[in-house]
Amino acid sequence: MPSSGPIGPNGTVGVLGGGQLGRMLALAAARLGLKTHIFTPERDSPASHVAARTTIAPYGDEAALKAFAGVVDVVTYEFENVPAETVERLESFGASVAPGARALAIAQDRLAEKDFVNSIGAKTAAYAAVNDLASLDEGLKKIGRPAILKTRRLGYDGKGQTLIPEHVRDLGLTWEEANKKAWEEIGAQPSILEALVEFECEISIIGARGRNGDIELYDPPENRHRGGILRTSIVPAGIGEETADEAREIAAKMLSELDYVGVIGVEFFVLKDGSVLVNEFAPRVHNSGHWTIDACACSQFEQHIRAVCGWPLGDPARHSDAVMENLIGQDADNWRDCARERQLCVHLYGKQEARPGRKMGHVTQLKGR
Ligand code: AMP
Repeated sequence: MPSSGPIGPNGTVGVLGGGQLGRMLALAAARLGLKTHIFTPERDSPASHVAARTTIAPYGDEAALKAFAGVVDVVTYEFENVPAETVERLESFGASVAPGARALAIAQDRLAEKDFVNSIGAKTAAYAAVNDLASLDEGLKKIGRPAILKTRRLGYDGKGQTLIPEHVRDLGLTWEEANKKAWEEIGAQPSILEALVEFECEISIIGARGRNGDIELYDPPENRHRGGILRTSIVPAGIGEETADEAREIAAKMLSELDYVGVIGVEFFVLKDGSVLVNEFAPRVHNSGHWTIDACACSQFEQHIRAVCGWPLGDPARHSDAVMENLIGQDADNWRDCARERQLCVHLYGKQEARPGRKMGHVTQLKGR
């Protein structure tokens, strides 16, 4: 970003990644008079359909990255598994990348993420680093069963994780066999063992920090998952004000400590006593914030564009209650029925093939306040 001030209309936002989050960022940027340039290895990507320009190249393509850095005013990303080297390359070619490399590095490694959250005084589930069968056994002694074994890297939507049950007798396995099975299931790679949290519900905070350090936070939705994938976000969540405030405070602290610029999504488990544990955070716009497009004056997507372009942040206040449902796989075949319903805002991502588990769109039902 030029040091002289915000990126004005007709400026160009570079986005790494061509998925639905990039698509919704591009739509929000267009409303503010900004252009979007998508960089993705994927042909015919959802974001490219609505962006001014697309570069189709691998994330390691130096020449393509150099050309991209030369024509955009700022670079952001729509998925957290952008290779660290891609960001380093872009910065070496003079690009300003937001959110910064530190937030990205921490979010890419579940162990670093848990260490960071605890270092700022927030709590997580009990955890232990696992590098082999011996450390898995050690970890289980410390944490107890049941527990969840997760890969440190590249996990999303419940992928790269497996449950270690409380009892193995019913499975006809010894403990050694059950441990080996779990370790092999996640690909025998550096992992983290987490205590299984008995939560009342899951919530998230979508927050933003601007270039000037200002912070704005949306109301926390309650998030319901099936098979590790978010299905529904409901706002307001059925939680007490103290719980919401604790989650807001933690998200704000994370934003400041990371010297963050852009939108963050922080996921929490709410315990019986109303306190919260941080599950994880995403250094990007978040699926549990899609309701903000229809229920807030300034959506999470516009907020992110405002933040990375150095604009003042928008008002995150909610003018309606909302229920957001993801359309996953064949769900999107019902688009005609969805389109008929009043008060249902339909969002389809332009994906050709409705594979099982693939996010094809979402609908947000608005309710008066
Ligand atoms: P994750 O990809 O880590 O966010 O996990 C996906 C979903 O699995 C979460 O939203 C929870 O519903 C569930 N989950 C993950 N970790 C735990 C845990 N330690 N205890 C209980 N449920 C969990």
